[in-house]
Amino acid sequence: MTKKTMGIHHITAIVGDPQENVDFYASVLGLRLVKKTVNFGDKVRYHLYFGNEEGAPGTLITFFAWPGVENGKVGDGEVGVSSYVVPVGAMQFWRNRLDDFEISYTVTERFGEQYLQFQDPHGLLLEIVEREEGAPNKWGFGGVTEDVAIKGLGGATLFSAKSTETADVVGNILGLELVGREGDYIRFKSESELGNIIDIKATSFGKGEQGPGVVHHIAWRTKDDSEQLEWKSFVEKTGFEVTPVRDRNYFKAIYFTEPGGILFEIATDQPGFAHDESLETMGEKLMLPKQFEGERKELENILIPVEVREIK
Ligand code: ZN
Repeated sequence: MTKKTMGIHHITAIVGDPQENVDFYASVLGLRLVKKTVNFGDKVRYHLYFGNEEGAPGTLITFFAWPGVENGKVGDGEVGVSSYVVPVGAMQFWRNRLDDFEISYTVTERFGEQYLQFQDPHGLLLEIVEREEGAPNKWGFGGVTEDVAIKGLGGATLFSAKSTETADVVGNILGLELVGREGDYIRFKSESELGNIIDIKATSFGKGEQGPGVVHHIAWRTKDDSEQLEWKSFVEKTGFEVTPVRDRNYFKAIYFTEPGGILFEIATDQPGFAHDESLETMGEKLMLPKQFEGERKELENILIPVEVREIK
């Protein structure tokens, strides 16, 4: 049996102060805060989801907010860089916008594409690349309009000290197609239009450490519950230990760790973000899964309120 993921479902990272996180991703980058909830494994801390207007798979970046915790270290066994894709012609807009917010950036090139690289306030490495593919994002905020808005994830760069083994998992288990090599990068591509380009960087940076400014895991797409169970037995047959299915309310998740140490999740496209609040207002209110609803008052007292606001 050969299986193929469509590409990235979401990337989840750790940050510090949640309002700083919202100010950056919603107000500077213009993404939609599609869900404000808590970490189901750590209910006194936020789990914030950002994406396009509907929070489609392939557009999502999510954050565990750990205010007051010392920063982690970006290194081997982590997603090193998360890439965003913007419409062709939008790069100058983003250079100007980063200048306006006094965010420094560098411009680099690989595989014939130009990348604008910068960091979020907590040190997470990000980049912006122009591409034709991917539907425009209709969510506009604070001067970011549809013609320049981030369409979603362009992909990610995986930092692995065991790049051959990591490439084997990405190509032979997840089913992405090898595009080629350039310098110390190995590039793969999936069939989706977003979250589709995966680069593996075959240079050791020293072992990464979890904490704010670091990606926690990367999730790959699967269509539905039954296909997810096929993935579970397929990955187990290749020798990896896979977790039981976990209900994350907006998708179901299974996890395994690839040989380079990066935590891989396989997440269902369904049910998405508009099943427990309306598409029009989602992201505004704190949403809790059923098991924590009885503790809403206590949790609302512990969690510092956060809001999407204009910051300029
Ligand atoms: Zn996840």
